[in-house]
Amino acid sequence: MAEEKARKRKLPRSESLNTASSVRPAIPRPLERDVLVEAGHRCAIPTCKQTPVQIAHIIPWEIVREHTFDNLIALCPNCHERYDKRHEIDRKAMMQYKANLSVINQRYGDLEKRVLEYFVEHPNEDHIWLPSSFEILLLYLLKDGLLVDAIGRGFSINISISDTFSRKRYNLTSKGKEFIQKWIHAKAIE
Ligand SMILES: [Zn+2]
Repeated sequence: MAEEKARKRKLPRSESLNTASSVRPAIPRPLERDVLVEAGHRCAIPTCKQTPVQIAHIIPWEIVREHTFDNLIALCPNCHERYDKRHEIDRKAMMQYKANLSVINQRYGDLEKRVLEYFVEHPNEDHIWLPSSFEILLLYLLKDGLLVDAIGRGFSINISISDTFSRKRYNLTSKGKEFIQKWIHAKAIE
């Protein structure tokens, strides 16, 4: 990785002269892949989501001296620098971004993640229109009460009419809005 080579070059003399055991090994490919997949090959900061990405250590390599999945996160070069060099993102927040990524990945499918990302990108939006046939792919957002079918729920008389539409309007509930805000602001999402 070019970025990693650049980093090694930047090591202070005292560190570069350390014993072989302290030389930083490359991150194993399978581990690197797992970290990239976890973040969907995009920056793990929910308001960023840019590409390309680099692998960052949440607790610096110089302290942990190992590569572990829980301590690695995919970041774009800009967020990586904001974290490592400029310290504009603190460690506690980065750990929470990582934990939230895990919760979201375990709980939701690809379309659901895309819908959540849409609301992160459009903080003033409170609804989304999607093809009716996608409903099964939104099941857990609906079950968890983050999203609600704007027409069907509570208006049984309208169900047959709404079924004739090719797309449905889904409202982000207050619980959904809270979820999005927690994700953006690096607070624990339950
Ligand atoms: Zn980023």
